Order: sequence, then C-alpha cells, then structure tokens
Amino acid sequence: MFQSKLPHVGTTIFSVMSQLASEHQAINLSQGFPDYMISPQLMAYVNEAMHDGYNQYAPMPGIPALRNILADKIYKLYQVNVNPETEITITPGATYAIYTAFTTFLQAGDEVIVLEPAYDSYIPNITLNGAKAVCVPLKYPDYAVDWQKVKDAITVHTKAIIINTPHNPTGYVWTADDMHMLDEITSNTNILIISDEVYEHITLDGRMHESVLKYENLRARSFVIYSFGKVFHATGWKIGYCVAPEALSKEFRKVHQFIGFTTNTPMQVALAKLLADEHEYLQLPHFFEQKRNLFLNLIKDLPFTIYQQAQGSYFQLAGYEKISKLGDKEFAIWLTQHIGVATIPISAFNHDGKDDQLIRFCFAKKDSTLIEAAERMKKLL
Ligand code: PMP
Ligand code: GLN
Repeated sequence: MFQSKLPHVGTTIFSVMSQLASEHQAINLSQGFPDYMISPQLMAYVNEAMHDGYNQYAPMPGIPALRNILADKIYKLYQVNVNPETEITITPGATYAIYTAFTTFLQAGDEVIVLEPAYDSYIPNITLNGAKAVCVPLKYPDYAVDWQKVKDAITVHTKAIIINTPHNPTGYVWTADDMHMLDEITSNTNILIISDEVYEHITLDGRMHESVLKYENLRARSFVIYSFGKVFHATGWKIGYCVAPEALSKEFRKVHQFIGFTTNTPMQVALAKLLADEHEYLQLPHFFEQKRNLFLNLIKDLPFTIYQQAQGSYFQLAGYEKISKLGDKEFAIWLTQHIGVATIPISAFNHDGKDDQLIRFCFAKKDSTLIEAAERMKKLL
C-alpha cells in the first residue's frame, strides 16, 4: 500500500531486550533506566503544580521559569550567557529534540557524520529526512575519536556531525583536545553540530564535561541537546531541551510547533522549582561513581574483560570472549535466558552490525539489583 520509509529497521534493541528480560524474569541491566525512585520533592512539586492548575498547554518554547533557571544553570556550569527567551526550547525528550534538529536543516542528499557505535535513533532520523549517514568508527577498544577518519569523511555534502559526550554506549568522555579538533575541522565550513549531552552530569573520576557551549565557535553552529530523564532519574517523563543560537532556535521552533507544539506543563513547573537546588545534579558524579565501582567490584572475578572503566554515562562495556564465541546478540540473548541477566549487544549501535563481542551493562540500578545480577552471573565461573 505504501513504501516503508525505514525498510531496514526493526524494533529497537532496547524494547527487544527489555521484553526478553521480562519474559525470562531476568534482571534487566539492558535498557538504560534507573530502578529506584525519583526525588519525593520532585513528586510533591508535580502534585502541587497540578493542584495549582498548571494542566493546560505551556507556551510553545517552554515555560519561562524553566528556561530562565536553565540559563542560570548553563552560566554557572559553563560560564556562557544563553538567552532563555530565544535560545532555549523545552522538548518532549532528547530523542524528539534530536529528530527536530535534524528536520530543521536537512535536505535530501545531505550527509551527516555519525561516530559509531552510536545511539540507535540517529541514523533512522537522518534517513527519514532523506539524508545520508556517513559512519565513522570510533577507536577500538577505548572508543576515542579517530580525528583523521572524521576529517577524511568530510565532503562538499557534509551538512552536520552528531556527537555524544559522555558517550552511550561506550562510556567515553570527550577531552578538551577532542573539542579543539572538532573546532578545527569545522571552522571555515558550514557544518552544523548536534551535540547530544544528555549525560552531562555523569562524568566520573573527577572528569569535567566538555560541553560545546563552552566553545564559542562551536556553540555558534550547534544544537545542544539535554534530557531531564537522566538528571532526575525519570526516563519515563520524556522531557528535555535544546540550546541553540537564536537563528537556529527560530527554525527549530518552526518545526517543533508543528510536530509537538509544546511539552507537558506540570513537569516543567516542577522541574523549574527543583533546579533551584543545584545539589540535585552536582551530586550525580559521586552517586554514579559509587554505582560503577560497586558493579566493577562485584564482577571482578567473573570471566568478563573490562577494557576500560566507564568514564561517564551509566553504562559499562564488557568483553565476554573468555565465556563464549557467540556473536554479541546471541550472547546477550543466551545470558538473559540462561543466566537471568539482560544486557545490550554493542553491534546494535553499528549500522553494519559490526560485532566486537562486547555487551553493555546499565549500572543505574539499586545496589541490591547489581548484587543479585552479579550473584546470578557466578554461574559463569
Ligand atoms: N541520547 C542518548 C545518548 C541517550 O542515551 C538517550 C537515552 N534515552 C537519549 C538521547 C534520549 O533521551 P530521552 O529519553 O530524553 O529522549
Ligand atoms: N537511552 C537508553 C539506553 O541507551 C534507552 C533509550 C530507549 O529505550 N530508547 O539504554
């Protein structure tokens, strides 16, 4: 009846593995979401907002109180002045913001550089806009950026590059040198940047988050995307925002107003209040460092290979070559069905299914969940 716009796309690996986990009563360390409660204060603020009557459409770019406090937060963190009226747009999640940003500027035939492994929505978003993803592999096994390869991938058709730091799924955190390289290769070009910074507050071992907002030349060509789902342990809320210079935000809002129009109101009111307490997000590195350390300690005698500890995000990669020769998808299915622990195979983040025999564990879980998962995996010994 009609031609599929995504003929080569199946169901996202996150749905597949979470479903399998539930069918086999496996501990779900696959899809990235916390299994602990959100802040009671945040719940109270949402309730209050609903009782106070904040239940109708919010202004199209988001409620001013939220945009204002985000501008303050950006100034505190990155010492950059962002105009909340013209440069911040609240969106129904980061995935939505990324799609909207692509749709804002992509024309048929444009090329977008994607560094792989990459979050699985990027390439379908590019394809849906009639553009072409040009995939550049990150370096194995640390997943640092191979800047020569990025340079080599640039052509006259390159419209944009999408970057992600801290990185899902590898846990790599970009350095200031990475940012300088990005600046160098994009200066004197019209290349736009989509910077997916949803894990901005999850940098571990004293690392700093390098936001493109800190770099004037980069910021001038960037859509920078964030998600409250990660900051407040509420992935099901689907609420985020896009920071971009006025001219880019203006076009972004033209698209946003006709695909979503606005973002749910009581959550915005509540988030604006909670953000006044900076402790809520400044304690995240410490919180997640403890989770990562606990998890690594729990699995240290198991036959996994940790090529690199997660530097950021809430994901830890592990090699399983001492356990099995299966491909990573088959191995992740086997681990779910036979050991009772669900993970994500990394090949799902590569357009060609490139398989480095790695799986991803999500450690944003209660300590008791991580302990139980490690206990089950002792059967691997
Ligand atoms: N980008 C990355 C790298 C992510 O890991 C996620 C997590 N879901 C998102 C974007 C999407 O965030 P949201 O749930 O707000 O759409
Ligand atoms: N970001 C989460 C992850 O990487 C899940 C996102 C999703 O389910 N679409 O696991």
